[in-house]
Amino acid sequence: MNLQTPLTHIKGVGLRTAEQFELSNLRTVKDLLYFLPRKHEDFSEVTKIADLAPGKRTIRARCESITTRNVRRGIKVTTAILADDSGKLQAVWFNQAYRMTQLKDSAQEFFFSGEFEFNYNKYQLTNPSAEKVNELPIQTDRLLPIYPAVKGLKSQLVRKILTELRSLITMLPETLPAAVVSSQKLVSINQALMGMHFPTTQHDVKKARERLAFEELFELLLASRLNKQANARLQSWKIDFESSVIKTFVDSLPFTLTDAQRRAAWDILQDISGESPMNRLLQGDVGSGKTVVATIATRQVVNAGYQVAILAPTEILATQHARTMADLLEQYGVTVGLLTGAVKTKNRQALLDNLKDGSLNVIVGTHALLEPSVQFHKLGLVAIDEQHRFGVQQRQRLLDKSKRMPHLLSMTATPIPRSLALTVYGELDVSIINQKPADRKPIQTKIWSPVSRKELYLAIDTQLQQGRQAYIVCRLIDDNPVNEAKSVQAEYKKLQNSIFGHRRMDLLHGKLKPAEKEAVMRQFLAHEIDILVSTTVVEVGVDVPNATVMMIEDAEQYGLSQLHQLRGRVGRSSYQSYCYLVTSDTKKPSQRLREVEKSNDGFYLAEVDLALRGPGEVYGRAQHGALNLQIASLADTRLIAKAQRAADEFIQSEDDLLQYKQLSANVEKYQRLTTLN
Ligand code: ADP
Ligand code: MG
Repeated sequence: MNLQTPLTHIKGVGLRTAEQFELSNLRTVKDLLYFLPRKHEDFSEVTKIADLAPGKRTIRARCESITTRNVRRGIKVTTAILADDSGKLQAVWFNQAYRMTQLKDSAQEFFFSGEFEFNYNKYQLTNPSAEKVNELPIQTDRLLPIYPAVKGLKSQLVRKILTELRSLITMLPETLPAAVVSSQKLVSINQALMGMHFPTTQHDVKKARERLAFEELFELLLASRLNKQANARLQSWKIDFESSVIKTFVDSLPFTLTDAQRRAAWDILQDISGESPMNRLLQGDVGSGKTVVATIATRQVVNAGYQVAILAPTEILATQHARTMADLLEQYGVTVGLLTGAVKTKNRQALLDNLKDGSLNVIVGTHALLEPSVQFHKLGLVAIDEQHRFGVQQRQRLLDKSKRMPHLLSMTATPIPRSLALTVYGELDVSIINQKPADRKPIQTKIWSPVSRKELYLAIDTQLQQGRQAYIVCRLIDDNPVNEAKSVQAEYKKLQNSIFGHRRMDLLHGKLKPAEKEAVMRQFLAHEIDILVSTTVVEVGVDVPNATVMMIEDAEQYGLSQLHQLRGRVGRSSYQSYCYLVTSDTKKPSQRLREVEKSNDGFYLAEVDLALRGPGEVYGRAQHGALNLQIASLADTRLIAKAQRAADEFIQSEDDLLQYKQLSANVEKYQRLTTLN
């Protein structure tokens, strides 16, 4: 038997058991060994019956009598009297009539582990597991591992089958380099897996968890270090910094750059003047002005004779960027094109031709840019807006379109906590715009009870009176009988026929045709609409400086970062802006909503969100779900720092990664997941 042995070859694993395991993606011995318990329940101490207190308990007793009766159709209750030399108690099982046979020998001593609780008017032991005292305990009398109960998988079953693998665990070869294990004072892989599945003490569990979590982070960090090194070895286009070109451009902007914008632009211009491709993440809270920074880089790249591709997650955003860039760049003879799914076949072909022969300098687009028909003459820079929305493969496809590796700029308004910046984004260089343009006033945010909606509408109307515009965001497009949440269609109709009858309203949602969406956004931008009722399609990047009110219905149904993003649609000018978080009911608002009310700091909210929901929810399944960390927490900064030091030491040492089979395979897997080259 080895790690690759199918589980079906193990004693006790029949077809049915194998099917059960299969549902949890457990196929081989290795899968099961690395199927880690979520927690351990302590049944290790044996208590005398006379001394029992309520809780999870183990007793050592004989079964004096046992009976089973049918209480209702399909429910069998088995009751037994258990005795030790201190006293007696009653044990009860539901639908486990086989206990009659198991416990029929009243001379045999058993360990019983279960919940001792007050039920049906007396103290009793509920559904205890039972094992003969002269056998190795599996389900009783120890720290019992509790496994993830995916699709009804029972911990009892996992424990039973793992018992068959015990001796294999003790023989497994070490997976980490010996130097790392000793310098980081880790337990061996044998001790770690024994400590997870067969611990004697909580200390065993702790050491085991730490070791396995370290290993995951070490692999992840090693992968990002190696990717960073590989990126540095690649050749890109060397685009020299021309200070007069940049100065002229910056001076022509309708505003003064913030210092943070200047620094970010400088970082980028430095990067692209090097031999190896830039791989930089530009982080800045919503409204901090990332687009213009990308435009400065674009100006330089085009001036040097290269093309630029800007990739955006939605049509609305792509269209907006194309317009912004054209406004700022066309005066310098730079040509800007827009490619989305909506562009008609005839125009499309012309666009593609111009792109291929190099007469088009800048192309802005959505996923449509990734298609094989899109070819460049000399692609120098790829800028990806809201980059966490693109999967790694999608980015790869874009980078493949250049003879040399183009420079890559990723932009995100979702602030990434430091722990994630080190691990998941470890191979990127990071620039942060931590400063809003000087004329901005902080947005005032208020949680609002739905019973006072009338007052809220009046407050909104006051803003409209003053010439401002408002967003009302709803969860649903249409009313839905199984979902109470408000819908765009219904709210739009209701408000247009009542309190906002005198206002120009329209609606926006994902089911509209791209051209329709586009038209609505254009009208809203031109202030031909006062109130836009919308789903979260307005979430990312949309820029209408005159809008000052963001009203979010059923606010508690959104994640923190998402609320912060939505709020960022307003507060984009010198006008005072407001964000109203309307709750679904009059219950006390959640801690999460209060965090958003209290703080305008996206970084802070991202940390809270990460702690509350985990990276998969916050940063998208595409990248982080695939990372599939079993045990390490990406919020564990202490362990991350430790793993980071170890990864650096390992890279500097003479040690060859390839001699560690499992380690190098995992590192390679992570490298492919996070790689941009
Ligand atoms: P985000 O970082 O959210 O992508 P944008 O790039 O859309 O932000 O910029 C938000 C708005 O702020 C735009 O209307 C932009 O023209 C404006 N803006 C950007 N930088 C400045 C600045 N330094 N001073 C004033 N307004 C600015
Ligand atoms: Mg933006």
